[in-house]
Amino acid sequence: MLDFVRLEEDLGQEERMIRDTARKFVDDHVKPDIGEHFENGTFPRELIPKMGELGFYAPNLEGYGSPNVSETAYGLLMQELEAGDSGLRSMASVQGALVMYPIHAYGSEEQKAEWLPAMGRGEMIGCFGLTEPEHGSNPSAMESYAERDGDGYVLNGAKTWITNSPIADVAVVWARDRSAEDDPVRGFLVETDRDGVSTNKITEKLSLRASITGEIGLNDVRVPEENVLPGVSGMKGPLSCLTQARYGIAWGAVGAARDCFEEARRYAKDRDQFGGPIGRFQLQQRKLAEMGTQITLAQLLAHRLAELKERGEMRPQHVSMAKRNNVRTARDQARIAREMLGGNGITTDYSPMRHMANMETVYTYEGTHDIHTLILGEEFTGLQAYQ
Ligand code: FAD
Repeated sequence: MLDFVRLEEDLGQEERMIRDTARKFVDDHVKPDIGEHFENGTFPRELIPKMGELGFYAPNLEGYGSPNVSETAYGLLMQELEAGDSGLRSMASVQGALVMYPIHAYGSEEQKAEWLPAMGRGEMIGCFGLTEPEHGSNPSAMESYAERDGDGYVLNGAKTWITNSPIADVAVVWARDRSAEDDPVRGFLVETDRDGVSTNKITEKLSLRASITGEIGLNDVRVPEENVLPGVSGMKGPLSCLTQARYGIAWGAVGAARDCFEEARRYAKDRDQFGGPIGRFQLQQRKLAEMGTQITLAQLLAHRLAELKERGEMRPQHVSMAKRNNVRTARDQARIAREMLGGNGITTDYSPMRHMANMETVYTYEGTHDIHTLILGEEFTGLQAYQ
């Protein structure tokens, strides 16, 4: 596996173990039929509890069954899962960083005890409802709202592009609380079997096909007061979750890119044309040289990000740079790898075109590439360009 600057040497025992466990899981349970799932537009649902058993959901949290592993270990886990498929890493990211994290950070004791252990084991599935049909890059303009009704709230609105909503037991729904001054955004835990909740599946996707995506319709949905996340109010709530998930994506994208590189390297040595392996041609070597270099740079950024996160010094802008760079790297390198595989490269028998298609989603969700560009633009000039 590509590790040109020997980052492996600095890993601790627990980090190696988690990485090796995830790599073996992907080799044994994902790689054999992920191409078929991608073609059929299905997610291997039988893996959800298995991933829980192996501790793949939010192992970097502390307590309630989570072992509090290092941020590097968590990153390596995301990297190995996404080397399998972005759909798999999305499952772990949503469950861990977008649902368990806000319950852990902002939930009541009762909410934590009810949801965290069960979600950690993969017995309960969560989803994160922020994006709306008319509000994607600017979620603060959201229209979904909650109104006080006796000892609870009534929710109305529509969310879309929600990973796992059709199979989720609970949704963290972000909505404006109209009964409080200035309509602050609050987080609501909405069980999907409540009256008035609908979770239609989006079927037309050409990217992230091995992942289930849907809508959340909220039509006079009543939730008790105990379902509100008590510890946060305002856009800080959803944005802090996105920082956690984007951290995982910055690592995960490296895994997808590395898988493309390894596939292309193997192919270049095996495939003969003009009387010998295509890997002997300078044009193919140049592609591998560039791919290997770009992936190594992305690995270095991910490892440094982990150090900053571990020290409590990682800022959202650091994550923007890493998410933006590493996803772009994976998107570009997947295309070059696909090219090196010739006609075979356009099939699901090989991973690069699947990763390439997936990267269109990863480039777009969790803050589009453009939005992260503008966040960095603001960081470097002090001038905001996205309003
Ligand atoms: P828009 O915001 O309409 O953007 C369209 C284009 O305009 C983009 O290129 C964008 O970069 C550009 N643009 C927008 N504003 C600016 C600006 N100020 N300056 C310059 N360019 C700009 N959301 C959730 O809440 N939960 C999920 O689980 C989830 N899962 C997803 C899964 C998939 C498969 C996909 C595709 C999306 C998912 N999303 C989810 C939604 C995702 O986060 C949004 O698609 C994303 O935020 C972009 O919003 P949009 O699609 O409405 O695009």
